[in-house]
Amino acid sequence: MSNPAAGGSDPSAASLPIGGITSFSTVDWPGRLVAVCFLAGCPWRCRYCQNSMLWDVSSATSTYQDLLDLMETRRGLLDGIVFSGGEPLAQRGLASAMRDMRDMGFEVGLHTGGALPDRLRDVLPLVSWVGYDVKAPWDAYPRITGVDGSGDRAREGLEAVLASGVDMEARTTWHPDLLSPDDLVSIARTLARMGVRSWAVQAFREQGTDGSLPPARVYPGDVPAEARDAMAHYEFR
Ligand code: SF4
Repeated sequence: MSNPAAGGSDPSAASLPIGGITSFSTVDWPGRLVAVCFLAGCPWRCRYCQNSMLWDVSSATSTYQDLLDLMETRRGLLDGIVFSGGEPLAQRGLASAMRDMRDMGFEVGLHTGGALPDRLRDVLPLVSWVGYDVKAPWDAYPRITGVDGSGDRAREGLEAVLASGVDMEARTTWHPDLLSPDDLVSIARTLARMGVRSWAVQAFREQGTDGSLPPARVYPGDVPAEARDAMAHYEFR
């Protein structure tokens, strides 16, 4: 079903490590009814990660055929599919799967943190929407991901998304031990300067994390007005 990838090999989707499939979602791609395919494997170790059970590819529980079978029954019922994770771009078969989904008539969305900007650039022509995690001011990324240089890669990936013109939303997960209110202002101003128009602050939730962060509550009013007002479309969730 897949075509050769532009400019190189096109690894098969057949061996994708699928850690879970949600058959119906109204929240994973704003304005679209979608399925969500969670790919196992991520090179980062964000302390607030709600899918820490998917960090290792060995956590895969479903096959690609399971996904194809589900999507076959969803033709005409869903607008599209979102590939999430884990970090979906860590899997070389992702582009092939995206092509298959498009061939079946589905729009393709992507959740990513930008750990692999070259692969992101390669799949952007296949993608109609990106939910892009912006975890911190670029130089503070290792505080969250545990990986040196991760902020540079995330900035490069975001620049690629913006240059492509693909519709996107930036989102920042907020735990007060990891980001200060001033950090949020810095993030919002940086994003606005780069041309991001839509930004969501997501309150930390303990469910699914590895338990390394203490419980914490943040509220909409805790986000400084300078951060909220920097963006054309802002949301707290
Ligand atoms: S990049 Fe995403 S999937 Fe990977 S550890 Fe961070 S939050 Fe979790």
